Amino acid sequence: MKEHELKILVSREEIAKAINSLAKKIDSDYLGKKILLVGVLKGAAFFLVDLARSISLPLEIDFVEVSSYGNKAESSGKIKLIKDIRKDLSDYHVLIVEDILDSGLTLQYLIDFFKQKKPLSVKSVVLFYKMKNNDCKRPNADYFGLKIPDYFVVGYGLDYAEKYRNLKDLYVVSFV
Ligand code: 5GP
Ligand code: MG
Ligand code: MG
Repeated sequence: MKEHELKILVSREEIAKAINSLAKKIDSDYLGKKILLVGVLKGAAFFLVDLARSISLPLEIDFVEVSSYGNKAESSGKIKLIKDIRKDLSDYHVLIVEDILDSGLTLQYLIDFFKQKKPLSVKSVVLFYKMKNNDCKRPNADYFGLKIPDYFVVGYGLDYAEKYRNLKDLYVVSFV
């Protein structure tokens, strides 16, 4: 790992508040619907657990794993599905749970992938939404928690070479 420093960007309290308001919206939009939260491993595992506990409606959870970044801080532009889910989705409303929207390639891939499984609906909830200059080509998350600047961040599930996922707050990595 290159020499680097971590600086706090979003506190655990702000994260918890954002998740609570996402859960409230989901509670009012999904009343009477059979919900499947699908977390994207590994980064979104932490968010999925906290979100699931904040939602009052009954729900089920599952996970997929994709790889696009390897151990680098930049996208390779290619997405590979490493772990699928096996359930028949025909009577579920799928909510893809993603930690962060950067280029949007991962989310677009997963939306298309889940639509092919023909659930009743496919929507997405993203915790951190990176603000970009050219925003137009990215898929829009149906629900998003917090807008953040376009930095490489770690903590709250997000890693740098598999480290820092367990940090409770979100940090910017600066290479020194
Ligand atoms: P996208 O496909 O939107 O470019 O990137 C999505 C995935 O890349 C995220 O699910 C996350 O795993 C990873 N990613 C994107 N931006 C960051 C970042 O700032 N920090 C970390 N640790 N991972 C990121
Ligand atoms: Mg991810
Ligand atoms: Mg990663």
